[in-house]
Amino acid sequence: MSERQDADDSGPGDEPAATVDGDTTVDRGRAGPVSTTVDRTAVGGTAGAAAPERGHGGDVSVKRDGRPEGAGTTDDPRLRRQAAVALVLLGLVTLVVAAFSTPWGVLTGGPPDPARDFTAQQIARAQAFDAATTLPGYLSLALTIIVAGVLVATPIGALILGRLRGPWWLRVLVGVVVITALTEVIRWPLGMWVETLLRDYGLSLQDWASWTTDRLKNMAVEVFLLALMLLALVALARKVRRWWIPAAIGAFALTVVASFVYPVVFEPLFNDFTSMQQGPLRTNLLAMAERDRVPVEDVLVADASRRTTALNAYVSGFGATRRIVVYDTLLKAPQPEVELVVAHELGHAKYNDVLSGTLIGGLGSAVGAILLYLLIGPVGRRAGFTSITDPRAVGAVLGLMTLGGLILGPLQNVVSRHIEARADVHALDLTKDPATFIAMQKRLAVTNISDLSADAVEYVLYASHPSSPQRIAMARAWAELNGVPVP
Ligand SMILES: [Zn+2]
Repeated sequence: MSERQDADDSGPGDEPAATVDGDTTVDRGRAGPVSTTVDRTAVGGTAGAAAPERGHGGDVSVKRDGRPEGAGTTDDPRLRRQAAVALVLLGLVTLVVAAFSTPWGVLTGGPPDPARDFTAQQIARAQAFDAATTLPGYLSLALTIIVAGVLVATPIGALILGRLRGPWWLRVLVGVVVITALTEVIRWPLGMWVETLLRDYGLSLQDWASWTTDRLKNMAVEVFLLALMLLALVALARKVRRWWIPAAIGAFALTVVASFVYPVVFEPLFNDFTSMQQGPLRTNLLAMAERDRVPVEDVLVADASRRTTALNAYVSGFGATRRIVVYDTLLKAPQPEVELVVAHELGHAKYNDVLSGTLIGGLGSAVGAILLYLLIGPVGRRAGFTSITDPRAVGAVLGLMTLGGLILGPLQNVVSRHIEARADVHALDLTKDPATFIAMQKRLAVTNISDLSADAVEYVLYASHPSSPQRIAMARAWAELNGVPVP
């Protein structure tokens, strides 16, 4: 994940794509989808060893006609045509599903006007923080592109991974660890830079030991998911010539399963979650959920105050693992504001935003798997391997996944901003309290030092939510529309 992301989402790794996040979050939200993010998992992985690797433990099985079976070669024009047709069709299906599940017509407000709701001092502080984080943010993005570009377009990755020995699966596994660790080492200083800024501005409360632990845990989760993906891919490519078919199905399934188990398997690695304690707040929240006809068994509190002062809440999982989580930092806010945050999250639950996001993500992953099948041949000629079954291909595959994620990031943000706006409208419909909504938006923006006037590039690249002034303007438009006094 990009350093910018760290700047906003409090903790590392607590925002899988399949989390509809905390609303509160600063605009720069989940920025760079890097090969590393747990989120955008998806894109089908691969790697494999073919010709050059034969004899390394003799793992390439040979068919009766003497041709390496399947062996990941993607040069047969007929097979490539089939995959290309599937790519176009599935790509269209994905776009159509995304287009139809996005609430394009959601209510928006007039032009945002930070000066109306924020003091000159607050605006200046936000600008100063933005100015301080802009450079490491863009450097991080540039570094991500460069590292991925080098892995995809030069033989450096294959040269490094060519030193590994052992059976194919071990080399794939170690290859994922090596490439991920190298990338992490290169990005480490930028991460420290951003963390230092977060501390200077009072947003981070971590010491270096806990920061490092978080980062390593995050990397471990990433390695685990990537290794799972790549091992499955190579195993398929070694057996099946049209490996894009099972790979696409597998990528879809892995995305859905990962999103489902994320809250119960991965989130607890970073935070402790407890049931919100009995009391008027809990009673009111559950009563509100009932009024909203959204079945909620429990509201969980995350012990985020160990590492951050930022305010946040989110919904993750779906079906049996769906949960509404609020940061303990949020509980110091006046109760009506906490209720508004939860009302927003109920909107996500009501519209099944996590589930539809997961399905779109799964379809996108399947598309990515087919694209990988088509690209891996041409990429391999530059990057020094002949097939996905060559474990030296791991670096290029990870690079492709990173680049794919970067390209998709702005599209995801467009969809996300509309979904977030719909949850805001839902919160207003449910509470009919635009004054408190605006008070809460101001608290979030000031506490999290949100960018109050992001420039166009930042907005496109990083804004998973409408900006705070936009959300406030929307609340005023809602008040006007519903005959409520405009705050
Ligand atoms: Zn939200």
